[in-house]
Amino acid sequence: MSRLVIGLTGGIGSGKSTVADLFVEQGAGLVDTDAIARELTLAGGAAMPRLAAEFGPGIVAADGALDRTAMRQLAFADASARGRLEGILHPLIRQLSTERCLAAPEPYVILAVPLLVESGTYRERCDRVVVVDCPESVQIARVMARNGLSADEVKAIMAAQATRQQRLSIADDVVVNEAGLAEISERVRVLHAKYLALLAEKLKAGC
Ligand code: ADP
Repeated sequence: MSRLVIGLTGGIGSGKSTVADLFVEQGAGLVDTDAIARELTLAGGAAMPRLAAEFGPGIVAADGALDRTAMRQLAFADASARGRLEGILHPLIRQLSTERCLAAPEPYVILAVPLLVESGTYRERCDRVVVVDCPESVQIARVMARNGLSADEVKAIMAAQATRQQRLSIADDVVVNEAGLAEISERVRVLHAKYLALLAEKLKAGC
């Protein structure tokens, strides 16, 4: 059972997934709330019966997974739909991610939460928070390249997220992801050693 949970967050395109993978290479466990959200809405996913009951069969694709386009259209047409969707998904994501953090065999777990700053409850569940940070211009360029979006589309997504300052203000540790992978690999190695030392302290203190 992992005794130390490190929340990992950052804006879109900051490099969260890249940094999370580097922690896993070092030997950390990884629980990713985005991956859990996708898993819950695949065919046979635990959220599907409740989503179908709430929104009707129109949001279920032929293979039984969530029809994301239909769900987006519904949320666009009905202002309450997004809140109802989150009301179903968020408690399930919270429950599964807690269970997986507790069950992880690694010495500590990286709990990747894209919207950690926006959601107060995750802050309480993490022993520490590491924020992946880079200038907004770099975020925009990366997401344009990765997702084929325009600069304005990326800016609109960023406008709906916490600001860089808000994220940095809750950070216990920061990974500056502006340069190449060699720099962040080295930073992750240093943080990994720090988290193992913190874990040892925590175990010594008996908590
Ligand atoms: P996030 O999970 O925060 O959205 P990703 O880790 O997916 O961000 O990174 C966004 C994109 O930028 C990906 O295509 C990734 O390969 C690339 N990327 C991330 N960090 C670097 C870096 N230091 N140098 C070059 N490319 C990077």
